[in-house]
Amino acid sequence: PLEQSAESTSHPRGLYLLFATEMWERFSYYGMRAVLVLFLTKAMMMDKAFASKFYGGYTSLVYLTPLIGGFISDRYWGNRRSILTGGLLMALGQFTLFFSASNYGPESTHAFSHWMLYLGLGVMIVGNGFFKPNISSMVGSLYSPADKRKDAAYTIFYMGINLGSFIGNTITSLIGDTGNPADFRWAFLACGIAMLLGTVVFNWGKDKYLHTPEGVQVGETPAISGGIMGVYALLPVLLAIILGILWLDSNKLSVIAPLLGIAVIGIAFMIFSDKSLSGADIKGIMVIFIVSFFVVFFWAAFEQAPASLTFFADEQMNRTIFGFTLPASIFQNLNAIFVVVGAPLMAMVWTALGRRGAEPPSPLKMAIGLAFLAAGYLVMCFGVHDLQPGVKVSMFFLVALYFLHSVGELCLSPIGLSLVNKLAPAKFASLLMAVWFLANAAANYLAGYMSSLYPDPKSTAPAPVILGYHITSLYDFFMVFVVSAAAAALILFLISGKL
Ligand code: GLN
Repeated sequence: PLEQSAESTSHPRGLYLLFATEMWERFSYYGMRAVLVLFLTKAMMMDKAFASKFYGGYTSLVYLTPLIGGFISDRYWGNRRSILTGGLLMALGQFTLFFSASNYGPESTHAFSHWMLYLGLGVMIVGNGFFKPNISSMVGSLYSPADKRKDAAYTIFYMGINLGSFIGNTITSLIGDTGNPADFRWAFLACGIAMLLGTVVFNWGKDKYLHTPEGVQVGETPAISGGIMGVYALLPVLLAIILGILWLDSNKLSVIAPLLGIAVIGIAFMIFSDKSLSGADIKGIMVIFIVSFFVVFFWAAFEQAPASLTFFADEQMNRTIFGFTLPASIFQNLNAIFVVVGAPLMAMVWTALGRRGAEPPSPLKMAIGLAFLAAGYLVMCFGVHDLQPGVKVSMFFLVALYFLHSVGELCLSPIGLSLVNKLAPAKFASLLMAVWFLANAAANYLAGYMSSLYPDPKSTAPAPVILGYHITSLYDFFMVFVVSAAAAALILFLISGKL
Protein backbone atom coordinates (compact mmCIF):
# COMPACT_ATOMS: atom_id res chain seq x y z
CA PRO A 1 0.00 0.00 0.00
CA LEU A 2 2.86 2.37 0.80
CA GLU A 3 4.37 1.79 -2.62
CA GLN A 4 1.00 2.35 -4.26
CA SER A 5 0.42 5.69 -2.64
CA ALA A 6 3.88 6.83 -3.67
CA GLU A 7 3.07 5.70 -7.19
CA SER A 8 -0.15 7.68 -7.37
CA THR A 9 1.34 11.00 -6.31
CA SER A 10 4.85 11.33 -7.72
CA HIS A 11 6.36 10.82 -11.13
CA PRO A 12 9.68 9.28 -12.14
CA ARG A 13 12.53 11.78 -12.50
CA GLY A 14 12.87 10.74 -16.13
CA LEU A 15 9.62 12.56 -16.87
CA TYR A 16 11.20 15.83 -15.79
CA LEU A 17 14.25 15.15 -17.92
CA LEU A 18 12.00 14.66 -20.96
CA PHE A 19 9.98 17.71 -19.89
CA ALA A 20 13.13 19.86 -19.84
CA THR A 21 14.45 18.51 -23.14
CA GLU A 22 11.12 19.03 -24.90
CA MET A 23 10.78 22.49 -23.35
CA TRP A 24 14.06 23.69 -24.89
CA GLU A 25 13.18 22.09 -28.21
CA ARG A 26 9.75 23.76 -28.33
CA PHE A 27 11.44 27.05 -27.35
CA SER A 28 13.42 26.70 -30.52
CA TYR A 29 10.57 25.48 -32.77
CA TYR A 30 7.91 27.98 -31.71
CA GLY A 31 10.38 30.80 -31.09
CA MET A 32 11.72 30.57 -34.62
CA ARG A 33 8.30 30.07 -36.19
CA ALA A 34 6.92 33.11 -34.37
CA VAL A 35 9.13 35.50 -36.31
CA LEU A 36 9.59 33.48 -39.51
CA VAL A 37 7.03 35.14 -41.83
CA LEU A 38 8.05 38.60 -40.64
CA PHE A 39 11.68 37.74 -41.32
CA LEU A 40 10.75 36.43 -44.78
CA THR A 41 8.71 39.49 -45.73
CA LYS A 42 10.65 42.27 -44.00
CA ALA A 43 14.25 41.07 -44.30
CA MET A 44 14.23 38.64 -47.22
CA MET A 45 11.71 40.79 -49.10
CA MET A 46 9.39 37.95 -50.10
CA ASP A 47 5.75 38.84 -50.70
CA LYS A 48 3.20 37.73 -48.11
CA ALA A 49 1.66 35.01 -50.30
CA PHE A 50 5.05 33.43 -51.01
CA ALA A 51 6.12 33.67 -47.37
CA SER A 52 2.87 32.02 -46.31
CA LYS A 53 3.34 29.06 -48.62
CA PHE A 54 6.96 28.77 -47.58
CA TYR A 55 5.90 28.63 -43.93
CA GLY A 56 3.26 25.98 -44.77
CA GLY A 57 5.76 23.90 -46.74
CA TYR A 58 8.28 23.99 -43.90
CA THR A 59 5.85 23.15 -41.07
CA SER A 60 4.19 20.46 -43.12
CA LEU A 61 7.50 18.70 -43.82
CA VAL A 62 8.32 19.01 -40.12
CA TYR A 63 5.35 16.71 -39.47
CA LEU A 64 6.16 14.39 -42.37
CA THR A 65 9.74 13.41 -41.45
CA PRO A 66 8.73 11.80 -38.10
CA LEU A 67 7.47 8.94 -40.30
CA ILE A 68 11.05 8.27 -41.36
CA GLY A 69 12.59 9.13 -37.98
CA GLY A 70 10.21 6.79 -36.16
CA PHE A 71 11.05 3.94 -38.51
CA ILE A 72 14.81 4.42 -38.21
CA SER A 73 14.57 4.64 -34.47
CA ASP A 74 12.57 1.41 -34.14
CA ARG A 75 14.95 -0.51 -36.37
CA TYR A 76 18.41 0.96 -36.01
CA TRP A 77 19.01 3.81 -33.62
CA GLY A 78 16.68 3.63 -30.64
CA ASN A 79 15.13 6.74 -29.06
CA ARG A 80 18.28 8.10 -27.42
CA ARG A 81 20.56 8.26 -30.42
CA SER A 82 17.67 9.64 -32.49
CA ILE A 83 16.94 12.42 -30.02
CA LEU A 84 20.58 13.41 -29.68
CA THR A 85 21.19 13.43 -33.43
CA GLY A 86 17.90 15.21 -34.11
CA GLY A 87 18.63 17.83 -31.44
CA LEU A 88 22.12 18.56 -32.77
CA LEU A 89 20.81 18.84 -36.33
CA MET A 90 18.10 21.28 -35.27
CA ALA A 91 20.63 23.43 -33.42
CA LEU A 92 22.83 23.41 -36.52
CA GLY A 93 19.82 24.44 -38.62
CA GLN A 94 19.09 27.40 -36.34
CA PHE A 95 22.73 28.54 -36.52
CA THR A 96 22.49 28.31 -40.31
CA LEU A 97 19.45 30.61 -40.18
CA PHE A 98 21.44 32.98 -37.97
CA PHE A 99 24.11 33.02 -40.63
CA SER A 100 21.52 33.59 -43.37
CA ALA A 101 19.83 36.41 -41.44
CA SER A 102 23.15 38.14 -40.84
CA ASN A 103 23.33 39.13 -44.49
CA TYR A 104 19.71 39.56 -45.46
CA GLY A 105 18.05 40.99 -48.54
CA PRO A 106 16.00 40.06 -51.62
CA GLU A 107 16.92 36.96 -53.57
CA SER A 108 18.04 39.01 -56.57
CA THR A 109 20.96 40.48 -54.61
CA HIS A 110 21.34 37.99 -51.73
CA ALA A 111 21.00 34.60 -53.40
CA PHE A 112 23.54 32.99 -51.07
CA SER A 113 21.59 33.99 -47.96
CA HIS A 114 18.45 32.56 -49.52
CA TRP A 115 20.22 29.24 -50.13
CA MET A 116 21.35 29.27 -46.51
CA LEU A 117 17.75 29.85 -45.47
CA TYR A 118 16.61 26.74 -47.38
CA LEU A 119 19.54 24.76 -46.01
CA GLY A 120 18.84 25.77 -42.39
CA LEU A 121 15.17 24.88 -42.64
CA GLY A 122 15.97 21.60 -44.42
CA VAL A 123 18.40 20.54 -41.70
CA MET A 124 15.76 21.36 -39.06
CA ILE A 125 13.11 19.34 -40.90
CA VAL A 126 15.40 16.30 -40.95
CA GLY A 127 16.39 16.82 -37.30
CA ASN A 128 12.80 17.12 -36.13
CA GLY A 129 11.97 13.81 -37.80
CA PHE A 130 14.34 12.10 -35.39
CA PHE A 131 13.48 14.15 -32.36
CA LYS A 132 9.73 14.61 -32.06
CA PRO A 133 8.28 11.07 -32.36
CA ASN A 134 10.96 9.67 -30.09
CA ILE A 135 10.67 12.11 -27.25
CA SER A 136 6.86 11.73 -27.19
CA SER A 137 6.94 7.94 -27.11
CA MET A 138 9.63 7.82 -24.40
CA VAL A 139 7.25 9.49 -21.94
CA GLY A 140 5.02 6.43 -21.99
CA SER A 141 7.88 3.96 -21.68
CA LEU A 142 8.87 5.26 -18.24
CA TYR A 143 5.71 3.64 -16.83
CA SER A 144 4.43 0.11 -16.77
CA PRO A 145 1.71 -0.43 -19.40
CA ALA A 146 -1.26 -0.30 -17.01
CA ASP A 147 0.04 2.61 -14.90
CA LYS A 148 -2.76 5.12 -14.23
CA ARG A 149 -0.27 8.01 -14.04
CA LYS A 150 0.37 7.93 -17.79
CA ASP A 151 -2.41 10.40 -18.67
CA ALA A 152 -1.16 12.83 -16.03
CA ALA A 153 2.37 12.37 -17.35
CA TYR A 154 1.28 13.44 -20.83
CA THR A 155 -0.53 16.45 -19.37
CA ILE A 156 2.65 17.50 -17.55
CA PHE A 157 4.58 16.95 -20.77
CA TYR A 158 2.07 19.13 -22.69
CA MET A 159 2.72 21.85 -20.13
CA GLY A 160 6.45 21.56 -20.89
CA ILE A 161 5.68 22.03 -24.58
CA ASN A 162 3.76 25.22 -23.91
CA LEU A 163 6.14 26.57 -21.31
CA GLY A 164 8.95 26.21 -23.84
CA SER A 165 6.81 27.84 -26.50
CA PHE A 166 6.04 30.73 -24.15
CA ILE A 167 9.64 31.42 -23.14
CA GLY A 168 10.92 31.00 -26.69
CA ASN A 169 8.27 33.15 -28.34
CA THR A 170 8.70 35.92 -25.75
CA ILE A 171 12.45 36.08 -26.21
CA THR A 172 12.48 35.87 -30.01
CA SER A 173 9.74 38.53 -30.31
CA LEU A 174 11.56 40.92 -28.01
CA ILE A 175 15.05 40.53 -29.44
CA GLY A 176 14.14 39.66 -33.06
CA ASP A 177 10.92 41.43 -33.99
CA THR A 178 12.11 44.94 -33.14
CA GLY A 179 11.30 46.80 -36.34
CA ASN A 180 14.93 46.57 -37.45
CA PRO A 181 15.31 43.66 -39.92
CA ALA A 182 18.93 43.20 -38.82
CA ASP A 183 17.70 41.94 -35.45
CA PHE A 184 15.90 38.80 -36.68
CA ARG A 185 19.20 36.94 -36.54
CA TRP A 186 19.35 37.26 -32.75
CA ALA A 187 16.09 35.32 -32.55
CA PHE A 188 17.62 32.46 -34.55
CA LEU A 189 20.78 32.55 -32.48
CA ALA A 190 18.74 32.29 -29.26
CA CYS A 191 16.83 29.32 -30.72
CA GLY A 192 20.06 27.57 -31.65
CA ILE A 193 21.46 28.03 -28.15
CA ALA A 194 18.20 26.79 -26.60
CA MET A 195 18.23 23.67 -28.76
CA LEU A 196 21.85 22.99 -27.86
CA LEU A 197 21.00 23.34 -24.18
CA GLY A 198 18.15 20.85 -24.53
CA THR A 199 20.46 18.35 -26.18
CA VAL A 200 23.15 18.77 -23.49
CA VAL A 201 20.59 18.36 -20.69
CA PHE A 202 19.25 15.19 -22.32
CA ASN A 203 22.72 13.75 -22.79
CA TRP A 204 23.62 14.51 -19.18
CA GLY A 205 20.56 12.84 -17.67
CA LYS A 206 19.72 10.02 -20.04
CA ASP A 207 21.67 7.21 -18.35
CA LYS A 208 20.66 8.24 -14.86
CA TYR A 209 16.95 8.78 -15.27
CA LEU A 210 15.53 7.05 -18.33
CA HIS A 211 14.56 3.60 -17.14
CA THR A 212 11.40 1.56 -16.56
CA PRO A 213 10.00 1.07 -13.04
CA GLU A 214 11.98 -2.21 -12.98
CA GLY A 215 15.21 -0.33 -13.73
CA VAL A 216 15.62 -1.40 -17.36
CA GLN A 217 17.19 1.37 -19.47
CA VAL A 218 14.79 2.68 -22.14
CA GLY A 219 15.43 3.99 -25.62
CA GLU A 220 18.75 2.25 -26.18
CA THR A 221 19.85 1.01 -29.57
CA PRO A 222 17.83 -2.10 -30.52
CA ALA A 223 19.79 -5.29 -29.77
CA ILE A 224 19.83 -6.64 -33.31
CA SER A 225 21.08 -3.62 -35.09
CA GLY A 226 23.57 -3.24 -37.86
CA GLY A 227 23.34 -0.21 -40.05
CA ILE A 228 23.83 2.48 -37.40
CA MET A 229 26.56 4.12 -39.43
CA GLY A 230 24.73 3.41 -42.67
CA VAL A 231 21.90 5.65 -41.52
CA TYR A 232 24.38 8.50 -40.94
CA ALA A 233 25.58 8.02 -44.49
CA LEU A 234 21.99 8.31 -45.70
CA LEU A 235 21.36 11.63 -43.90
CA PRO A 236 22.80 13.82 -46.71
CA VAL A 237 20.57 11.99 -49.20
CA LEU A 238 17.53 12.61 -47.03
CA LEU A 239 18.52 16.26 -46.69
CA ALA A 240 18.92 16.62 -50.44
CA ILE A 241 15.46 15.14 -51.03
CA ILE A 242 13.87 17.45 -48.44
CA LEU A 243 15.62 20.50 -49.91
CA GLY A 244 14.43 19.50 -53.37
CA ILE A 245 10.84 19.15 -52.17
CA LEU A 246 10.94 22.46 -50.28
CA TRP A 247 12.44 24.27 -53.22
CA LEU A 248 10.08 22.81 -55.83
CA ASP A 249 7.04 23.38 -53.66
CA SER A 250 7.81 27.00 -52.97
CA ASN A 251 8.53 27.55 -56.67
CA LYS A 252 5.09 26.85 -58.05
CA LEU A 253 5.31 23.06 -58.43
CA SER A 254 3.30 21.66 -55.58
CA VAL A 255 4.79 18.32 -54.67
CA ILE A 256 3.96 18.19 -50.96
CA ALA A 257 0.20 17.71 -51.34
CA PRO A 258 0.51 14.64 -53.62
CA LEU A 259 3.26 13.28 -51.38
CA LEU A 260 0.96 13.43 -48.36
CA GLY A 261 -1.82 11.79 -50.36
CA ILE A 262 0.49 8.93 -51.36
CA ALA A 263 1.63 8.51 -47.74
CA VAL A 264 -1.96 8.26 -46.46
CA ILE A 265 -3.00 5.77 -49.15
CA GLY A 266 0.17 3.73 -48.58
CA ILE A 267 -0.38 3.52 -44.83
CA ALA A 268 -4.07 2.69 -45.23
CA PHE A 269 -3.13 -0.08 -47.64
CA MET A 270 -0.48 -1.50 -45.27
CA ILE A 271 -2.96 -1.58 -42.42
CA PHE A 272 -6.13 -2.77 -44.11
CA SER A 273 -4.41 -5.49 -46.09
CA ASP A 274 -3.46 -7.21 -42.82
CA LYS A 275 -5.65 -10.30 -42.57
CA SER A 276 -5.11 -10.78 -38.82
CA LEU A 277 -7.17 -7.72 -37.83
CA SER A 278 -10.51 -8.38 -36.13
CA GLY A 279 -13.73 -6.59 -37.07
CA ALA A 280 -13.47 -4.49 -33.91
CA ASP A 281 -9.85 -3.52 -34.77
CA ILE A 282 -10.94 -2.38 -38.21
CA LYS A 283 -13.76 -0.29 -36.79
CA GLY A 284 -11.34 1.39 -34.36
CA ILE A 285 -8.89 2.13 -37.17
CA MET A 286 -11.68 3.61 -39.29
CA VAL A 287 -12.51 5.95 -36.41
CA ILE A 288 -8.85 7.09 -36.27
CA PHE A 289 -8.89 7.87 -39.98
CA ILE A 290 -12.21 9.73 -39.79
CA VAL A 291 -11.22 11.76 -36.75
CA SER A 292 -7.84 12.60 -38.31
CA PHE A 293 -9.67 13.97 -41.33
CA PHE A 294 -11.62 16.41 -39.15
CA VAL A 295 -8.49 17.40 -37.28
CA VAL A 296 -7.07 18.74 -40.55
CA PHE A 297 -9.74 21.46 -40.53
CA PHE A 298 -8.83 22.34 -36.98
CA TRP A 299 -5.07 22.80 -37.38
CA ALA A 300 -5.37 24.43 -40.82
CA ALA A 301 -7.32 27.27 -39.22
CA PHE A 302 -5.44 27.20 -35.91
CA GLU A 303 -2.00 27.41 -37.51
CA GLN A 304 -2.81 30.79 -39.06
CA ALA A 305 -1.24 32.13 -35.86
CA PRO A 306 2.33 32.63 -37.12
CA ALA A 307 1.10 33.50 -40.62
CA SER A 308 -2.00 35.52 -41.55
CA LEU A 309 -2.85 36.35 -37.92
CA THR A 310 0.66 37.75 -37.48
CA PHE A 311 0.33 39.81 -40.69
CA PHE A 312 -2.93 41.09 -39.21
CA ALA A 313 -1.33 41.96 -35.86
CA ASP A 314 1.53 43.65 -37.68
CA GLU A 315 -0.50 45.81 -40.05
CA GLN A 316 -4.09 46.11 -38.92
CA MET A 317 -4.07 46.08 -35.14
CA ASN A 318 -3.41 48.67 -32.50
CA ARG A 319 -0.55 47.15 -30.50
CA THR A 320 0.11 49.99 -28.11
CA ILE A 321 -0.65 49.45 -24.46
CA PHE A 322 0.36 51.82 -21.60
CA GLY A 323 2.46 53.75 -24.12
CA PHE A 324 4.45 50.66 -25.11
CA THR A 325 4.09 49.12 -28.58
CA LEU A 326 4.18 45.33 -28.46
CA PRO A 327 5.87 43.37 -31.27
CA ALA A 328 3.33 41.76 -33.63
CA SER A 329 4.79 38.28 -33.16
CA ILE A 330 4.38 38.27 -29.38
CA PHE A 331 0.60 37.81 -29.54
CA GLN A 332 0.94 34.14 -30.56
CA ASN A 333 2.20 33.64 -27.04
CA LEU A 334 -1.31 34.00 -25.71
CA ASN A 335 -2.00 30.46 -26.89
CA ALA A 336 0.80 28.98 -24.74
CA ILE A 337 -0.28 31.04 -21.73
CA PHE A 338 -3.93 30.01 -22.05
CA VAL A 339 -2.96 26.36 -22.46
CA VAL A 340 -0.67 26.29 -19.41
CA VAL A 341 -3.33 27.99 -17.27
CA GLY A 342 -6.27 26.20 -18.88
CA ALA A 343 -5.05 22.58 -19.02
CA PRO A 344 -5.56 21.84 -15.30
CA LEU A 345 -8.90 23.71 -15.34
CA MET A 346 -10.07 21.72 -18.33
CA ALA A 347 -9.10 18.46 -16.62
CA MET A 348 -11.23 19.57 -13.65
CA VAL A 349 -14.19 20.32 -15.91
CA TRP A 350 -14.05 16.85 -17.51
CA THR A 351 -13.68 15.19 -14.09
CA ALA A 352 -16.61 17.13 -12.65
CA LEU A 353 -18.78 16.23 -15.65
CA GLY A 354 -17.56 12.65 -15.40
CA ARG A 355 -18.72 12.42 -11.81
CA ARG A 356 -22.24 13.26 -12.95
CA GLY A 357 -21.94 10.76 -15.77
CA ALA A 358 -22.05 13.60 -18.29
CA GLU A 359 -18.50 13.66 -19.68
CA PRO A 360 -18.78 13.92 -23.48
CA PRO A 361 -17.23 11.07 -25.49
CA SER A 362 -13.99 11.94 -27.33
CA PRO A 363 -15.43 12.64 -30.83
CA LEU A 364 -17.97 15.00 -29.28
CA LYS A 365 -15.21 16.82 -27.37
CA MET A 366 -13.39 17.23 -30.65
CA ALA A 367 -16.53 18.65 -32.31
CA ILE A 368 -16.75 21.11 -29.42
CA GLY A 369 -13.09 22.01 -30.06
CA LEU A 370 -13.91 22.82 -33.69
CA ALA A 371 -16.88 24.91 -32.58
CA PHE A 372 -14.61 26.99 -30.32
CA LEU A 373 -12.29 27.50 -33.25
CA ALA A 374 -15.15 28.81 -35.39
CA ALA A 375 -16.25 31.06 -32.51
CA GLY A 376 -12.74 32.58 -32.34
CA TYR A 377 -12.86 33.59 -36.00
CA LEU A 378 -16.44 34.83 -35.61
CA VAL A 379 -15.29 37.29 -32.92
CA MET A 380 -12.57 38.41 -35.32
CA CYS A 381 -15.18 38.97 -38.06
CA PHE A 382 -16.98 41.41 -35.75
CA GLY A 383 -13.69 43.24 -35.26
CA VAL A 384 -12.91 43.70 -38.94
CA HIS A 385 -16.45 44.23 -40.23
CA ASP A 386 -16.72 47.40 -42.34
CA LEU A 387 -13.15 48.31 -41.51
CA GLN A 388 -12.19 51.66 -43.03
CA PRO A 389 -8.79 51.87 -44.73
CA GLY A 390 -6.12 53.15 -42.37
CA VAL A 391 -8.14 52.34 -39.22
CA LYS A 392 -6.63 49.86 -36.80
CA VAL A 393 -8.55 47.22 -34.86
CA SER A 394 -8.39 46.87 -31.08
CA MET A 395 -6.21 44.03 -29.79
CA PHE A 396 -9.21 42.74 -27.83
CA PHE A 397 -10.39 40.75 -30.86
CA LEU A 398 -7.12 38.87 -31.30
CA VAL A 399 -6.85 38.17 -27.56
CA ALA A 400 -10.40 36.77 -27.58
CA LEU A 401 -9.60 34.68 -30.65
CA TYR A 402 -6.53 33.13 -29.02
CA PHE A 403 -8.49 32.45 -25.86
CA LEU A 404 -11.25 30.60 -27.75
CA HIS A 405 -8.72 28.75 -29.90
CA SER A 406 -6.80 27.57 -26.85
CA VAL A 407 -9.97 26.21 -25.24
CA GLY A 408 -10.63 24.46 -28.55
CA GLU A 409 -7.10 23.03 -28.60
CA LEU A 410 -7.56 21.62 -25.11
CA CYS A 411 -10.82 19.93 -26.20
CA LEU A 412 -9.24 18.39 -29.25
CA SER A 413 -5.48 17.90 -29.18
CA PRO A 414 -4.71 15.85 -26.04
CA ILE A 415 -8.00 13.98 -26.42
CA GLY A 416 -7.23 13.07 -30.01
CA LEU A 417 -3.79 11.77 -29.05
CA SER A 418 -5.13 9.49 -26.37
CA LEU A 419 -7.97 8.35 -28.64
CA VAL A 420 -5.41 7.19 -31.19
CA ASN A 421 -3.52 5.39 -28.41
CA LYS A 422 -6.62 3.62 -27.18
CA LEU A 423 -8.07 2.54 -30.54
CA ALA A 424 -4.90 1.49 -32.32
CA PRO A 425 -4.16 -2.26 -32.23
CA ALA A 426 -0.69 -2.67 -30.64
CA LYS A 427 0.73 -3.97 -33.88
CA PHE A 428 -0.04 -0.70 -35.70
CA ALA A 429 0.41 1.74 -32.83
CA SER A 430 3.26 3.72 -34.41
CA LEU A 431 1.81 3.62 -37.90
CA LEU A 432 -1.50 5.02 -36.66
CA MET A 433 0.35 7.70 -34.69
CA ALA A 434 1.91 8.52 -38.05
CA VAL A 435 -1.59 9.00 -39.47
CA TRP A 436 -2.19 11.59 -36.75
CA PHE A 437 1.11 13.30 -37.66
CA LEU A 438 0.14 13.19 -41.33
CA ALA A 439 -3.11 14.96 -40.53
CA ASN A 440 -0.95 17.68 -38.95
CA ALA A 441 1.29 17.78 -42.02
CA ALA A 442 -1.69 18.20 -44.35
CA ALA A 443 -3.20 20.82 -42.08
CA ASN A 444 -0.02 22.87 -41.91
CA TYR A 445 0.32 22.76 -45.67
CA LEU A 446 -3.26 23.93 -46.03
CA ALA A 447 -2.63 26.61 -43.39
CA GLY A 448 0.17 28.08 -45.51
CA TYR A 449 -2.01 27.98 -48.61
CA MET A 450 -4.93 29.66 -46.82
CA SER A 451 -2.67 32.34 -45.40
CA SER A 452 -1.47 33.09 -48.94
CA LEU A 453 -5.04 34.27 -49.65
CA TYR A 454 -4.74 37.01 -47.01
CA PRO A 455 -6.11 40.09 -48.75
CA ASP A 456 -3.52 42.66 -49.69
CA PRO A 457 -5.07 46.08 -50.37
CA LYS A 458 -1.94 47.19 -52.21
CA SER A 459 -2.02 44.25 -54.60
CA THR A 460 -3.35 44.77 -58.13
CA ALA A 461 -3.85 41.03 -58.70
CA PRO A 462 -7.48 39.82 -58.88
CA ALA A 463 -9.04 38.79 -55.54
CA PRO A 464 -8.59 35.11 -54.70
CA VAL A 465 -11.64 32.87 -55.13
CA ILE A 466 -12.45 29.62 -53.30
CA LEU A 467 -15.50 27.66 -54.47
CA GLY A 468 -16.94 30.75 -56.08
CA TYR A 469 -16.40 32.88 -52.96
CA HIS A 470 -14.36 36.05 -53.51
CA ILE A 471 -11.98 37.17 -50.78
CA THR A 472 -11.75 40.93 -51.04
CA SER A 473 -11.66 41.99 -47.39
CA LEU A 474 -10.39 40.76 -44.03
CA TYR A 475 -13.99 39.98 -43.14
CA ASP A 476 -14.30 37.66 -46.16
CA PHE A 477 -10.99 36.06 -45.26
CA PHE A 478 -11.77 35.25 -41.63
CA MET A 479 -15.29 34.15 -42.60
CA VAL A 480 -13.78 31.24 -44.58
CA PHE A 481 -12.50 29.79 -41.30
CA VAL A 482 -15.78 30.42 -39.49
CA VAL A 483 -17.72 28.52 -42.12
CA SER A 484 -15.25 25.65 -42.62
CA ALA A 485 -14.70 25.05 -38.89
CA ALA A 486 -18.41 25.34 -38.10
CA ALA A 487 -19.33 22.94 -40.90
CA ALA A 488 -16.70 20.44 -39.74
CA ALA A 489 -17.95 20.81 -36.14
CA LEU A 490 -21.54 20.20 -37.20
CA ILE A 491 -20.78 17.11 -39.27
CA LEU A 492 -18.56 15.64 -36.56
CA PHE A 493 -21.26 16.39 -34.00
CA LEU A 494 -23.86 14.57 -36.10
CA ILE A 495 -21.75 11.47 -36.65
CA SER A 496 -20.11 11.42 -33.21
CA GLY A 497 -22.73 9.03 -31.82
CA LYS A 498 -21.89 6.51 -34.52
CA LEU A 499 -18.14 6.97 -33.98
N1 GLN B 1 1.34 22.27 -29.48
C1 GLN B 1 1.55 20.86 -29.56
C2 GLN B 1 2.99 20.55 -29.87
O1 GLN B 1 3.75 21.36 -30.26
C3 GLN B 1 0.64 20.20 -30.57
C4 GLN B 1 0.74 20.76 -31.93
C5 GLN B 1 0.08 19.90 -32.98
O2 GLN B 1 -0.27 18.73 -32.79
N2 GLN B 1 -0.10 20.46 -34.13
O3 GLN B 1 3.43 19.43 -29.72
